[in-house]
Amino acid sequence: MSDCVFCKILNKEIPSTFIYEDDVCFAINDINPKAKKHILVIPKIHVESLNEVEDLSLIKDLFSAIKKINKQEGIKEFKTLINTGKKAGQEVFHLHIHILSD
Ligand code: 5GP
Ligand code: ZN
Repeated sequence: MSDCVFCKILNKEIPSTFIYEDDVCFAINDINPKAKKHILVIPKIHVESLNEVEDLSLIKDLFSAIKKINKQEGIKEFKTLINTGKKAGQEVFHLHIHILSD
């Protein structure tokens, strides 16, 4: 989607360092970290939120990536978070999973 910040990052229109990438998703450090390590895992397809996910294999693939990212980054204790909808704190309407770790 043309005015979506995560699509722009994926398309290299906004510079960002990918700490992980596979066929389904990529991961970046959050620009405004709320923990010592704050990583965003973002599917390559533009899906607005969890409410719009039809094929739940996407979620399995994202969590499979999270396990690899955590191994790569030495993260053993962490929180995952998906904000869904404005009232729940979603700011970027392109599905993403937060990894938060101290
Ligand atoms: P949400 O509130 O939608 O669940 O989370 C969106 C997250 O994306 C926020 O934690 C915010 O700091 C992060 N974010 C927004 N714009 C950018 C950006 O351009 N680069 C990076 N790395 N993170 C961003
Ligand atoms: Zn997008």
